[in-house]
Amino acid sequence: MADYIYTLETRLSPDQQKAVTLVLDAAKAAGMNLYLTGGAIRDIITGFPIRDLDFTVQGNALKLQKDLERSGAVVGDADAETRSLLLTLPGGVRAEIAMARSERYDKPGKPPQLAPATIIEDLRRRDFTVNAMALSLNEGSRGLLMDPFNGAADIEAKVIRVLHNYAFLEDPSRMIRATRFATRFHWPLEERTQARYESGKENNYIEYIQSSNIGYEIEQLAYEDDALGVLKAYEKEGWLKVLNPRWSTAKVDTAGLGGLMKTRQQMNELGYTPEVAPAVLHFLTERLGDKDISDLRRAIPRKDLVEAWKDLDGNAHSLAKRLMGKEAATPSRTWQLLSSARPEMILFLAVTARQQAVAQKIKNFFTKWRQVQQKVPLPEMTELHITPQMPAYAKIANDVFLLLLDGKLRSRTETLKFLKPLAPPPPPPPPPPPAKRGRGAKAPAVVVAPPAAVSGKQGAKGKGKAATAPVTAVAPIPVKGAAAVKGAVPAKPVVAAKPAAAAKPAAAAKVSKPAKAAVVKKPSKPAKPVKRPAKTKAKATAKKKK
Ligand code: ATP
Ligand code: MG
Repeated sequence: MADYIYTLETRLSPDQQKAVTLVLDAAKAAGMNLYLTGGAIRDIITGFPIRDLDFTVQGNALKLQKDLERSGAVVGDADAETRSLLLTLPGGVRAEIAMARSERYDKPGKPPQLAPATIIEDLRRRDFTVNAMALSLNEGSRGLLMDPFNGAADIEAKVIRVLHNYAFLEDPSRMIRATRFATRFHWPLEERTQARYESGKENNYIEYIQSSNIGYEIEQLAYEDDALGVLKAYEKEGWLKVLNPRWSTAKVDTAGLGGLMKTRQQMNELGYTPEVAPAVLHFLTERLGDKDISDLRRAIPRKDLVEAWKDLDGNAHSLAKRLMGKEAATPSRTWQLLSSARPEMILFLAVTARQQAVAQKIKNFFTKWRQVQQKVPLPEMTELHITPQMPAYAKIANDVFLLLLDGKLRSRTETLKFLKPLAPPPPPPPPPPPAKRGRGAKAPAVVVAPPAAVSGKQGAKGKGKAATAPVTAVAPIPVKGAAAVKGAVPAKPVVAAKPAAAAKPAAAAKVSKPAKAAVVKKPSKPAKPVKRPAKTKAKATAKKKK
């Protein structure tokens, strides 16, 4: 049997793992059983990215709200009818916690009768077999996969299959969902499901769609990686006009959306993970009228998403204004300003900025200026004992970087002149090791591992390489303000700086005079083992000749 808990732990991001623990703690405290359900299980098995976490509890999920809010969750919606919560958990993890329920459809077009249920009954109300699995997170059954409809086999076969013949009639939004999943995964509908789908289209089941489901499906578009691809499929299938009668692919700012995804990718590569959903909605609806946009916003259940979408223009405008003002008069000030801005805002502004100067500054922030970080003279700093162990190290490294950025340190001499007064006094030499006979072979380590350059411990490790240890182990150059940015970027340049630093052990040794003194005091024994072999060899040769 597959170890789903292990797979879960390896596939979830650290933030998602924390989110699971958080929800589990809240459910435990409330005495409710908790299951991971829906897309997360499907994606764990398929290997596709896990976009959000759908939890199901046996009990009223609304009871967990307060506890979760205390742990930093933002509630986007609390649905009293389904007793479910839409949340954003710390680290930007999207989650839904729903009460396990059964649904009984008496008449098309009428909402189902809901009742609290067991997890197995809950799985019966799901849309497709691949989405109808649950993983127990509870003590005693932790890791148990419930798959009553053989969803794992359909994942293997890569098909989308409804659970029963009335799936589309009961809830026509499942036809929209089928199109969405088929487009996203490039999986076909299973044969009978396809036949039901066609019949549903012919018989216009869609007119019975619940308005709450329309809103939910609009929202889901925002999180698609290829939202335009899904929108095109919706248009082709006739679903787009269901979401909004005037929506079409012609209303999309295709270039803007393309630019957004491309820039997001570049930011990801630099370590930023901006949330793009609000901006995706912005570009998907760019050419729709105000009334249609406010209709769409009203329909979306997740209110924090709607607020973020509404705020995009205003926030981008104010960031652009600041970038044009005194606050960003120099590269270093611009760097500091952008480092403290939310990555989402930088991303949106990068794509929408009208002023050339603003666009250029953002471009420099992501490219040219980042390369300047590599000019921070780490080897020289190590020579001067300005190492991460120093409390002021972060500030000094940052100051050097900002001065380099503004062209105020133009040469090595200027940089050293700036750095020297900031160097700590060299520590006293270590006491000479006890002059034990026969163990002198260890002494040469001291020659190249000046204790002054490293801590006593590293000196003890010896073997020459220790002198470079502080450099290779150096923390990311802490650029002021960057810590506030999710996935702070400055780690990269340090990696690039490593080789240069590592190439300098001799220089590091040169500076630390106390080390030399220690060497001078060393008994000259170490020399002997070196010479001995030569002598022995000479003797041997001499003997042979005899
Ligand atoms: P993803 O989040 O990756 O888009 P998902 O399958 O998790 O895919 P959600 O919209 O998050 O989709 O829904 C979570 C789960 O809730 C689904 O996997 C499915 O089991 C169930 N579900 C959602 N909408 C419906 C529906 N209209 N009918 C039946 N079940 C549904
Ligand atoms: Mg989901």
